[in-house]
Amino acid sequence: QRAIVWFRRDFRLADNPALRAAVDGDFDGIIPVFIHAPDEEGDWAPGGAQRVWQHESLAALADALEAIGSRLVIRQGPTQSTLDDLIDESGAGAVFWNRLYEPGLVRRDADIESHLGQAYPELEVRHFQADLLHEPWTVETQAGKPYKVFTPFWRTISERSIRQPKARPSQLPAVWSRIGSCDLADLGLRPAKDWTTTILEHWTPGEDGAQARLETFLEDTVDNYDNDRDRPAVHGTSYLSPHLHWGEISPFQVMHRAEEWLSEQSGGAIHEHIQSFQSEIGWREFSRHVLYHFPDTPDEPLDDRFKAFPWETPDTAFDDWKAGMTGIPMVDAGMRELYATGYMHNRLRMTVASFLTKNLRIAWQHGERWFWDTLFDADLGNNTLGWQWAAGCGADAAPFFRIFNPARQGERFDKNGDYVRRWVPELAELSNKHLQEPWNAPDKALEAAGVVLGKTYPKPVVDLKASRREALEAFEQVKN
Ligand code: FAD
Repeated sequence: QRAIVWFRRDFRLADNPALRAAVDGDFDGIIPVFIHAPDEEGDWAPGGAQRVWQHESLAALADALEAIGSRLVIRQGPTQSTLDDLIDESGAGAVFWNRLYEPGLVRRDADIESHLGQAYPELEVRHFQADLLHEPWTVETQAGKPYKVFTPFWRTISERSIRQPKARPSQLPAVWSRIGSCDLADLGLRPAKDWTTTILEHWTPGEDGAQARLETFLEDTVDNYDNDRDRPAVHGTSYLSPHLHWGEISPFQVMHRAEEWLSEQSGGAIHEHIQSFQSEIGWREFSRHVLYHFPDTPDEPLDDRFKAFPWETPDTAFDDWKAGMTGIPMVDAGMRELYATGYMHNRLRMTVASFLTKNLRIAWQHGERWFWDTLFDADLGNNTLGWQWAAGCGADAAPFFRIFNPARQGERFDKNGDYVRRWVPELAELSNKHLQEPWNAPDKALEAAGVVLGKTYPKPVVDLKASRREALEAFEQVKN
């Protein structure tokens, strides 16, 4: 008997329950397959940056499989008929995969499961929990409803134990040469642009890269996580988000390794840092649970009142926001970091999202789309939650009237201006006093720093105070 292991967004060999079940089962052949079928993800097929990562990550998975005697079979969709072909070609008696929770994929996978059951009554079809510590249908409030607030959600799930990560197979049976595969390059995921080469210098996609990233974080960073995680100029967080998104490392591995690390250290403070890091993994869980229970939220606000919010039509200010040319240094620094590295620090994600939705009053869905196309870690659960949080219309969201002032954010979290100077070098010579609000700097200070507003650096596209007031007035219209 042979088993097909259908890889989807679980590009790892360790702690991969579908692969493990095939290894532990009584199979004399295992066929690892990836089926490229972005159309089946509807409006939320992987964006530009995600596709680049996906290409690299698939290449790493293919290498890892080869190193243990196997081979990644790559096919083009549609998934259903491709699986049928593979079953017919190989005579497979089983198909295994790991579950995902995005609404489009939940529907697609249910259709495939029911089709396989009808077309191949003898086939063993099984799917596994791998991407979430707790399945969305197992966590509910006392009233039997899905949680919409993080703290009680996290309290509930952190009391439960989680399984140990599953072992990595050391060897797999060879895949018959007659099971054909297309070339990874045929999928057209990685455009031949210089952009991808430079952007990838910051990252190592793949399972080994993910493990190395976790170890570096534990060794160098976690012991001050709670303080440094809000300072964009320092590497104060784990940078695991794209690795977690593509399933190069599982949340089970991250949680257990963090516990293990804690038990190896002496001294009290690290305990709190580890806990707050683990609670971020909790936010990841929360976002997937919210998405599962409220499948319209990538497009519609969870808070219905916001359907009537008077948003502005995106105009040139939206283009300036995307290009990091708004004339507001913290916003521009964040947007430029995103474009240059496929990543943006969380503090900046909150700042630029608040600026877009409140100061420019452009609907959060436009920002969500731009992030979807440019973030390596673009993730439907986390991105939806983040944007609805910032716009004040989502689960456990910041209230609408809490409007970030980007200049104050800069003064607080980028005290020495290192982050702004790194990404907005045209302001590098301005003193800290004026760096975050160059429009208020005296002419002399601007001149000494070689800054000509409107020429070497834009004038602000919007007045922060006036636009804040207008946003609050607009909110009055939908508040009740
Ligand atoms: P760490 O601080 O090291 O956290 C560890 C892990 O916890 C992260 O890798 C991530 O998986 C999870 N996590 C951390 N913060 C959050 C959070 N607020 N919500 C959900 N999970 C979290 N995260 C994405 O992974 N993909 C997105 O598309 C995304 N879009 C966002 C959009 C907006 C407007 C905002 C405000 C936040 C968004 N986030 C998104 C959440 C957060 O900014 C990133 O997860 C984090 O910056 C990733 O860096 P890290 O891995 O170093 O985080």
